[in-house]
Amino acid sequence: MNNNELFTRAAKVIPGGVNSPVRAFRSVGGTPLFIREASGSKMVDSEGRAYIDYVCSWGPMILGHAHPDVVAAIREAVGKGASFGAPTELEIEMAERVVAAFPSIEAVRMVSSGTEATMTAIRLARGWTGRDRIVKFNGCYHGHADSLLVKAGSGVATLGIPGSPGIPRVLAGLTLSLAYNDLDAVKAAFARYGQDIACIIVEPVAANMGVVMPKPGFLEGLREITAANGSLLIFDEVITGFRLAYGGWQTITGIRPDLTCLGKIIGGGLPVGAMGGKREIMEHLAPVGPVYQAGTLSGNPLAMTAGIKTLDILKKKNYTEIEEKTVRLRNAFQELFDRAGLPVRINHAGSLFTLFFTEREVVDYASAQGSNAELFARFFQGMLARGINLAPAQFEAGFVSFAHTDDDIEKTIAACEKTIKTLR
Ligand SMILES: *Cc1c(COP(=O)(O)O)cnc(C)c1O
Repeated sequence: MNNNELFTRAAKVIPGGVNSPVRAFRSVGGTPLFIREASGSKMVDSEGRAYIDYVCSWGPMILGHAHPDVVAAIREAVGKGASFGAPTELEIEMAERVVAAFPSIEAVRMVSSGTEATMTAIRLARGWTGRDRIVKFNGCYHGHADSLLVKAGSGVATLGIPGSPGIPRVLAGLTLSLAYNDLDAVKAAFARYGQDIACIIVEPVAANMGVVMPKPGFLEGLREITAANGSLLIFDEVITGFRLAYGGWQTITGIRPDLTCLGKIIGGGLPVGAMGGKREIMEHLAPVGPVYQAGTLSGNPLAMTAGIKTLDILKKKNYTEIEEKTVRLRNAFQELFDRAGLPVRINHAGSLFTLFFTEREVVDYASAQGSNAELFARFFQGMLARGINLAPAQFEAGFVSFAHTDDDIEKTIAACEKTIKTLR
């Protein structure tokens, strides 16, 4: 069956034909690729076409697809049983690695997705502080738990409006969503609600509105304000953890959040999430403390095995290697678009990048929204037709892996050059 036929068949039994909406080609048009297999930097679709992949499963595949050592480790582990519902040494091995890598993490709880990690972190922050309100930022994605699926209200004092039907107003009303990089808005929110704010949750480098860097002083400001008000600071490093550096953005900046959420890379492609932080706060979780949290498949031996192997390989890697490849791509893209007279702003952090089709500098969700999504869609389709798989939406990051070769980068630049000719 080809992609179209598979999509038609899928849509009969799966809502929209996909099990996560970001996989649908809603904003770019056309049919999603149905993937048959992948290896290194390449994915092969149901029609046998190969693509250089810059989605990398939305982040986890930092070593490339089907890394032989990770595959071998999973093969060996699965023969010993897929799940026990009882503790294993593998979970300790994983926890010890996370604690060693992240300066702010003294204890960690494994879960099965990033959503579970952020959901647990928010519950723990509320349970620890005895407060109900939380602060997040417009355009930051923290998974799909009710309290976090809240869009911007305009202005600091505006209470959250549910970003999705199904979220009780009373719950959404406890989420304040502010402009990223706007410390004054945070100060105003704390001036009004400070005694009732349990936590701030933030992507320390935002990568879910496209890549947006924190302005100098922004994260430091969040640290100060939360500390002064008895609120917790939660870094959602589900994307940035083990990607921007082995210990995440916090090792680069030296800022120590109270809690950190992880996911994606630490499962090596298997379903995983984790949240950790100060021991005192973490031990407020059951079974030691009163805040309940659980999971039948949490710390799953296959996921731990894939994650541990991935981390052990990553630990020996030089992250400047993937950053340099990303910078080469960015510089070449920028030059090609400049030469063509097409306005594009390219943000990048380490091995993450986003091409925003706008003239304005992108510093938050509002400026990201100024991008020309229609032009992006044409760029996306042009690249796809030339064998380059980018995320099928303007407000996403591109991911470069250790498996991307110089040849991949050259081919991607050549595809961009050809695609641009079709955009004018
Ligand atoms: C992907 C992501 C999540 C959610 O993780 P899932 O495993 O998809 O539930 C949370 N936070 C950030 C920053 C993410 O990028």
